[in-house]
Amino acid sequence: SDHSLVYPSSPDSIDWSIHYPAFGNQRPSFADIGCGFGGLLITLAPQFPDTLIVGLEIRVQVTQYVQDRITALRATSDNYQNVSVIRANAMKFLPNFFQKASLTALFFLFPDPHFKIRKHKARIISPTLLAEYAYVLAPGGIVYTITDVEDLAQWMRAHLDAHPLFQFVEEQELRNEGKGPILDAVYSSTEEGKKVERNAGQKWLACFRRIEVKRIN
Ligand code: SAM
Repeated sequence: SDHSLVYPSSPDSIDWSIHYPAFGNQRPSFADIGCGFGGLLITLAPQFPDTLIVGLEIRVQVTQYVQDRITALRATSDNYQNVSVIRANAMKFLPNFFQKASLTALFFLFPDPHFKIRKHKARIISPTLLAEYAYVLAPGGIVYTITDVEDLAQWMRAHLDAHPLFQFVEEQELRNEGKGPILDAVYSSTEEGKKVERNAGQKWLACFRRIEVKRIN
């Protein structure tokens, strides 16, 4: 249950310097939704030392684990100043955390599948939530999704394809833009991704660009 969660009243009310003391009040631009044990955060942080990266995770103990992991890494390395984690239900009030058009990457890696039809509204990709993701993403920003559940892959693909502000982008196109290291991390840096590899499972990747809509006056 998330009844004990407290939400910021607006993005301006968040003091990010508590999360990233080395960066003043710079705001995060990569967000990992349902970051689990933090494998993506920890892998990307040293590769993008000037980018602030945040994980959102709903489970208390898992969030604490990631926090402890970051604290330990910071103590023994000059890196990892740019990575942090927040306990939050990412399906609620995301625009209270992130300013409009402030994110350049949003990650949904191996999200919970919620198999039953009546639970589909619990999925982290839905028409309502896509409007929020589009709001917090900067035009040109990328949504990265990956799953080992074929039905969920189709669900995410279909909903993102149907949304006017998102456009499917081929993996190779992103690699040509220099996003190969991000894609490699998306495939295999997380605990869930590694588990799928151990079980020789299949992975479905689908990435989408937040497009800019030209206004017609
Ligand atoms: N992305 C990680 C990985 O690839 O290893 C974790 C995948 S795990 C299957 C899904 C994670 O999403 C869990 O840690 C779960 O607690 C978290 N989660 C589920 N719903 C969430 C929500 N509404 N807000 C934040 N985190 C959520």
